[in-house]
Amino acid sequence: MPRRSWRLCSLEPRPAPVSYSQLDRPVQFLKGVGPQRAESFRRLGVRTARDLLYHVPRRYDDASTVSPVGKLEVGMDATVLGRVRSKGVIPTRKGLRIFQAVLEDGTGMITAAWPGQPWLDRKLREGDRVLVTGPVRFFHGRQIQPREMTIVSRGSDPDEPQGVIWVTYPATEDLPQWVLRQVFARNLDALLSWADDDEYLSPDGLVRHGLPPLSRALSWIHRPEQIRQAEAGRRRLAFDELLFLQLVQARARRKATELQPGIEHVRTNELVRPLHEALPFALTEAQARVLREIYADMRLSRRMSRLLQGDVGSGKTVVALFAMLLALEGGHQAALMVPTEILAEQHARRLAELLSPLGIDVALLTGSLPAPERRATLAALASGSARLVVGTHALIQEGVAFRSLGLVVVDEQHRFGVRQRMALLEREDVRPDVLVMSATPIPRSLAMALYGDVDLSVLDEVPPGRKPVETTLRARDERSEVYRFVEVELEAGRQAYVVYPLVAESEKVDLLAATDEFERLKRDVFPRRRVGLLHGQLPSAERDTVMRAFLAAEIDVLVATTVIEVGIDVPNATVMVIEHAERFGLSQLHQLRGRVGRGEGASHCILIAEPGQGSFERLEVFRRTNDGFEIARADLRIRGQGDLFGSQQHGRDPVLRFADLMTDEDLLVAAQREARALVASDPELEAPEHARVRGQLHGRYRERLEMYGVG
Ligand code: ADP
Ligand code: MG
Repeated sequence: MPRRSWRLCSLEPRPAPVSYSQLDRPVQFLKGVGPQRAESFRRLGVRTARDLLYHVPRRYDDASTVSPVGKLEVGMDATVLGRVRSKGVIPTRKGLRIFQAVLEDGTGMITAAWPGQPWLDRKLREGDRVLVTGPVRFFHGRQIQPREMTIVSRGSDPDEPQGVIWVTYPATEDLPQWVLRQVFARNLDALLSWADDDEYLSPDGLVRHGLPPLSRALSWIHRPEQIRQAEAGRRRLAFDELLFLQLVQARARRKATELQPGIEHVRTNELVRPLHEALPFALTEAQARVLREIYADMRLSRRMSRLLQGDVGSGKTVVALFAMLLALEGGHQAALMVPTEILAEQHARRLAELLSPLGIDVALLTGSLPAPERRATLAALASGSARLVVGTHALIQEGVAFRSLGLVVVDEQHRFGVRQRMALLEREDVRPDVLVMSATPIPRSLAMALYGDVDLSVLDEVPPGRKPVETTLRARDERSEVYRFVEVELEAGRQAYVVYPLVAESEKVDLLAATDEFERLKRDVFPRRRVGLLHGQLPSAERDTVMRAFLAAEIDVLVATTVIEVGIDVPNATVMVIEHAERFGLSQLHQLRGRVGRGEGASHCILIAEPGQGSFERLEVFRRTNDGFEIARADLRIRGQGDLFGSQQHGRDPVLRFADLMTDEDLLVAAQREARALVASDPELEAPEHARVRGQLHGRYRERLEMYGVG
């Protein structure tokens, strides 16, 4: 779901400082780039000289490790650089086709052989220079069997790559490798000298962060003498992009928390202490720590804008409850906003149980409330007689007024939507503190990158005594066994979920499949059981009816799509079968699995997957652990950060091109500290020494500023 751009509050846009750099000139004015190539560059996303400078190699080959062909011996594992002298495909008696090329480097010749890859014959041409790596074997003389091969240059290219490390750029048909190399060879010195205009870090700052100057970093990237220079250069560019991302977020944070006064909450312990005493358990250490962070923040005069992260079942709701009581103690009201009506009802009921000994009523506000009740609730909120309210989106609609709203807790469940929810902050009449709860355990580095504008509290501990859900992996032809297992649980009075994937691209087909399966399960597999169907296309009233029936144990088996991710607690449901598990991300599977294991009984999650394409290995990671953070890290490693940022991406501007959240956490921490200090000391970056940061921010990162409403 693409993020719409919107503003926290509207300010007059300030004109960007005019600091014209040669790097802003169109590529067309560079040597060797005429109008036609400029057009081809445009299709690569390269419009200006700066764009070209940031069109960085996609791979590096280290020719310093090359062995002369004359010195190769059988048994070595070697890298060879040679020119293709002759080539061809040779059939063997067993029907295997082998592509062979004779390579020459001035010291000798050697045959390179690629069994089973006859198609290479079309790719490689005589005269091409190639870099190959692989074992040297004895086969009618010496032969190398490459594991890797790079075409360094074409026989027809006018230029040869220079230096010891060869770079390969992202190229296109109109802009082949040699053209890119040639354009860089002719312009790089000039481009690098202009890059000094963009240097915003002081010599002091460079030392502090252990980073090379920008022009040197770019030179290392385009013309490294050693591979590690290219890596050091990348880290500099990674720092830059993280810093500017954090800078935008630091400004958004300042706007949300500091520019307008918040509430200095007062603690009397009048409610907090009785709740501590009434709870049947002690808070975990993580809960206590997080609560201290929240209380400290709420008592400040600046507004709280905080994200509380914790795995399903880590006890976020209890933390939220304590935070709400602090607001109440000082005479303010508190609201808990959740994604669905039925969840609102369940929360309201639970909180009421906990709070009735304290003499606090819990109000409920949802869209489907009958008009008279709605009127009564609205009046109670406006007069302040309702102190604590649970509700859906209905809470932030027009016409809902509070006497003094002190805290809003937004239970996001698994969604990323912090910024949308902050719409609440735009209202003039209320200046509540905001606590957003998310059950998506994302790695800290990713959270910092995505949510640099909010403060982060992490519940990294699960209350003691929780039984982990036992997870098993089954192939499709083992289904009948799985059904027998489910039947045993049902016989014992338990309930089960059967989940089908539903992805946007093939929604119709998926829905049909889920519906068909529902019919099949009802008719053929569980004929004696009550089977229900739940999916997102059902009207919400009907969805609620089905959920309620499942909660009341009037349905034994609930066939569902992923809508149940944001579900209610059904402690009696102890089995979940997930079909086509290979089609889900691991983090999503983890959310689903969180629906079981909520009661006394041992719970089971059974994944049915199609073997192949590494799906079993991936799911095996999931099977082995119940730790959401570990799963999220694995997901990040396997699927890459691009995917995680997927919903956040904005046009062609990927959030991060150079930074790698798995390895650059140190840079992220440094960038966040630097950005926050900068914004604290000079919010508008008006000081002369900040002119360059400001220029870059308003030039290169304008779109992002607008996205965060701080342009
Ligand atoms: P979350 O909202 O993070 O998914 P909940 O707040 O719903 O988790 O807590 C899950 C369950 O654990 C609830 O039944 C809650 O009462 C219980 N619980 C919360 N904190 C503790 C604790 N410190 N010790 C024991 N049980 C706890
Ligand atoms: Mg405050």
